Amino acid sequence: MATKQKNVGVDDLVMLTEVSEKSLLDNLNQRYKDGVIYTSIGPVLISLNPYKQLGIYGKDQINLYKGKHEFEIPPHIYSIADKAYRSLLSERENQCIIISGESGAGKTEASKYIMQYIASITGSSTEVERVKKQILESNPLLEAFGNAKTLRNNNSSRFGKYMEIQFNLGGDPEGGKITNYLLEKSRVINQTVGERNFHIFYQLLRGASAEEKSKLHLLSPESYVYLNKGKCYTADGIDDNVAFKQTRHAMKIVGIDEPLQEQIFRLLSAILLLGNLNFTATGTGNNSNATISDKNIANTIGELMGVDPILLEQSLISRMISTGQGARVSNYQVPQNVEQALYARDAFAKALYSKLFDFIVRKINESIEVKTSGKVIGVLDIYGFEIFENNSFEQFCINYVNETLQQIFIDLTLKTEQEEYVSEGIKWIPVDYINNKPCVDLIEKKPIGILSLLDEECLFPEGNDASLMEKLNKHFANNSHYSNVQQVRNQFIIDHYAGKVFYNINGFLDKNRDTLFNDLVTLALSSKVALVNEIFTYVAPPLEDVEQEKKNRDKMVRGGYANTGAKSVIPTDKKRPITAGFQFKNQVGALLKSLYSCSPHYIRCIKPNENKRSLDWDQEKCSEQVRYLGLYENLLVRRAGYCYRQTFAKFMRRYYMLAKSTWPKWTGDAQQGAQLLLDELGIPKQEYQFGKTKIFIRNPQPLHSLEDKRVVR
Ligand code: ATP
Ligand code: MG
Repeated sequence: MATKQKNVGVDDLVMLTEVSEKSLLDNLNQRYKDGVIYTSIGPVLISLNPYKQLGIYGKDQINLYKGKHEFEIPPHIYSIADKAYRSLLSERENQCIIISGESGAGKTEASKYIMQYIASITGSSTEVERVKKQILESNPLLEAFGNAKTLRNNNSSRFGKYMEIQFNLGGDPEGGKITNYLLEKSRVINQTVGERNFHIFYQLLRGASAEEKSKLHLLSPESYVYLNKGKCYTADGIDDNVAFKQTRHAMKIVGIDEPLQEQIFRLLSAILLLGNLNFTATGTGNNSNATISDKNIANTIGELMGVDPILLEQSLISRMISTGQGARVSNYQVPQNVEQALYARDAFAKALYSKLFDFIVRKINESIEVKTSGKVIGVLDIYGFEIFENNSFEQFCINYVNETLQQIFIDLTLKTEQEEYVSEGIKWIPVDYINNKPCVDLIEKKPIGILSLLDEECLFPEGNDASLMEKLNKHFANNSHYSNVQQVRNQFIIDHYAGKVFYNINGFLDKNRDTLFNDLVTLALSSKVALVNEIFTYVAPPLEDVEQEKKNRDKMVRGGYANTGAKSVIPTDKKRPITAGFQFKNQVGALLKSLYSCSPHYIRCIKPNENKRSLDWDQEKCSEQVRYLGLYENLLVRRAGYCYRQTFAKFMRRYYMLAKSTWPKWTGDAQQGAQLLLDELGIPKQEYQFGKTKIFIRNPQPLHSLEDKRVVR
């Protein structure tokens, strides 16, 4: 049995003598100062970012946690990984580990430690080794393309990720699958001062050989408009040159060979050059048309992407419009002004990059795909709740996922808890908890939810952010989770479980429409570079329900439902485009379905300070995160029931030495022993119950003193 660490508060917050948000925080703080970053609330693990290497992830630690129950050993990420793995084997049930927390809190590091743990405790046949290697190598590859330096984290994941590892009957990894969510593609064209674009651009520019640089027409990072907005070209702790070698190695491992790598690099170079493509106005006033200022750049992009530079220019400076129907359709080119051309250019760059990212994920998945079905451990590393000064469509989507994840958390943790009481035959009164379904409904309910109304507004030719705002205000006037701001017309407020968030509606329609004009799609499809063609030809297999949903939506249009209260009429002959919000909602739906089929494990990550410094503790920031993660509520719920539960045998193995009647050794019936022990210690009957196989103790205080006595002896 491991020795209990003293003077570092309590390992499990349910043991706190005083239950308040303050004491919860004080306990975490006290442990943090002593370099103890892990604490639990029952089965939930809280992880504090230490911002330094603690030396707690070595082989010896892995061996220490292997096959141990969480009661036997201090909280650790390995304990969660081990529990998930053991449950997968013993119960033959899918497991998932949900990691949440704000940017820089340590989610991605946590997910990597889990992968590392699983890889090191499982078999080593050639095939298993191959799969493990591919799974582990997918990390640096995805980080190269999906991570960037932000003000809050030098290696910030700008996408959400759900990674499933599938196991064979012997308990060894045989394959897996990655699902990616909502890449922050706006970063391709713009960065805040002090932030960078995605790592891969700098890796390529620094790591490519002289020969490659000339072949790919690479310039220095400062020369690209798409890289110089942030005025930042390096990131502490990151060596782009070394990272590029790792990225290439990882590509090789997942089956991206050198010719394909070259196509990827050509595309990256072309994306960067797109940003340097400028337009000049010809003509005057509102009617001035755009032309490309520097034809050389267009020629180079054309060469890199395998497209005709004249067609490239045409697709950016004009738009094909179709009128009429059937045989009488006529197409004509509408010239665009400089602003419109710049918009098309940026939309193209963003589409190319995000489609390339999806392609990389597909390649990884092809390499680790398994045809047979087996049990999985899924690890979800997804952005936490975000409240900024200015919250836009992105925060709305992110907070929507968090709201649904919170719903699962409540459903699954309370459900499992209640089921255990029932199966053990324990009498108990169900606890009240915040039900956040009304808030989830406000966002996603059909046909009247914010996402549906947003989609609908996108269909009206004259639909705009202001008209959407009006509709939201009208429909949700009596919704207790929604309010509007009288003085500021472009804001609405959602009362999330984590607090009120002010959303700025500006840009919602544009971001949701996510328009890429057909001309640019046609251009990409004309490419002689197989990769460019492929990323635009690929059609994602429909997620379940999406097909049905599409039919419903088309019906909605025809039935005229969408017209309520609006002056304009939706053109009924048009196919409804897939909007960003619609797609996201379906992805979230599919994710929830997977998670609901799993036994969940939770890791809640906290960033103790904003300075990326070890030992600094920002009380206000920490308190905010505790709130966003719903930790205090979690603690209350956990304490409302029986905080401590353990099989009689294990209980006795741990505490036999506390009573004379069971000391120095108890060999009799464990339940009888437990009764003797509790009687002798004078623990009141109302404080505990005996279930069929386990003992349940309501209040942790007597247990707390048991623990102390045990250590004193
Ligand atoms: P984002 O949402 O921005 O992706 P994140 O929650 O994934 O953030 P990480 O990238 O995992 O955050 O962690 C940020 C940094 O904090 C790491 O690069 C590392 O320097 C440090 N860090 C996180 N966890 C640990 C740990 N357990 N031990 C040591 N350092 C850590
Ligand atoms: Mg991350």
